[in-house]
Amino acid sequence: MIPRVTLNDGHSIPAFGYGVFKVPADDTERAVSEALELGYRHIDTAAIYGNESGVGAAVKASGIPRDELFITTKLWNDRHDGEEPHAAIAESLEKLGLDRVDLYLVHWPTPARDNYVHAWEKMIEIREAGLATSIGVSNHLVEYLDRLVEATGVVPAVNQIELHPAYQQRDITHWAGEHGMKIESWGPLGQGKYDLFGAAPVVAAAEAHGKTPAQTVIRWHLDKGYIVFPKSVRRERLQENLDVFDFSLTADQIAAIDAMDPGDGSGRVSAHPTELN
Ligand code: NAD
Repeated sequence: MIPRVTLNDGHSIPAFGYGVFKVPADDTERAVSEALELGYRHIDTAAIYGNESGVGAAVKASGIPRDELFITTKLWNDRHDGEEPHAAIAESLEKLGLDRVDLYLVHWPTPARDNYVHAWEKMIEIREAGLATSIGVSNHLVEYLDRLVEATGVVPAVNQIELHPAYQQRDITHWAGEHGMKIESWGPLGQGKYDLFGAAPVVAAAEAHGKTPAQTVIRWHLDKGYIVFPKSVRRERLQENLDVFDFSLTADQIAAIDAMDPGDGSGRVSAHPTELN
C-alpha cells in the first residue's frame, strides 16, 4: 500500500513513515508499536532524540520480519571526527537491537568545524562494513553537497531537509534532481508553527478531495516526490496521516501550494544549517 522510492544505490525506501523527534523516550515503544500496528513500516529516529531504545523495543515486540521494516538513524554533531562515527553507529545499533540500519544520515553538517567531508568518508566506510544499507545526509546546503561529491564521488542517497509549503528549499531540490539524490522532508507539517492548515490552497484542495488539511499537505509532499514521515504521538493522527494513498492532488492544486513559499527564506521554522556546530 505504501509506495517505495528507489535510491541511487539501487535500494528502496518506503515513501512514507513515522518520525519520532520529540517522542519522549518513555513513550516511544508505545507510540512506535501503535504505528507498526496501523501499518507503518518506516521509522525515522536519531541518536540525539534519545529514543532509539524505544524504537528497538517496539521493533522487537512487533515480530515483523526485518526485511519489511525500514529504520533510519543519524550521526550526531559531536561525533564527526576521527573514528567516532564508527563508535556512534555501534552504539545506535546496540540501542536499536539491530545489526544494520537501512539508512544512516549525517544529522547536521557543522560547517564551522569543517569536518563534514571527513564525516562523509566515514559514512562510506560504515556502508562498506554492512552496518548501514544506504547512507545520506541531512541539512546539507548545495555548497556542502558539491564538496562531498568532489571529494568522494559518492552522491548521498538522500538529503533530509526542512521542507514544507512555506519553505521549499528549491536550490537543494533542484540539485537533488540533477544528481539523483532523493529529498526527505522534515517538519513536513511546518512543526505546527504557522497556520498551514488554514492556508487557502490547502483548505481548497482538502475540501475538493474530502481529506483533512494534514492529509492534503502530506499528499503534496508525496506528489512532489519527497519522502515524508510526519510526527504525532496520537493514534488517531497516526491513522489519519497514513490515510493518504487513495487520492492525488491535481497539477493546479500542487501549483497553488507550491506558490505558498515567499521565496526569501522567511518561511523557515527551525534551525539553519550554519547555526548548529
Ligand atoms: P512535523 O511537521 O511532522 O509536525 C509535527 C507536529 O504536527 C506534531 O507535533 C503535531 O502537533 C502535528 N500533527 C501531526 N499530525 C497531525 C494531524 N494529522 N493533524 C494536526 N496536527 C498534526 O514536524 P517534525 O516532527 O519536526 O518532523 C517530522 C520528522 O522529521 C521528525 O519526527 C523527525 O523524524 C524528522 N526531523 C528531522 C530533523 C533533522 O534535522 N534531520 C529535524 C526535525 C525533524
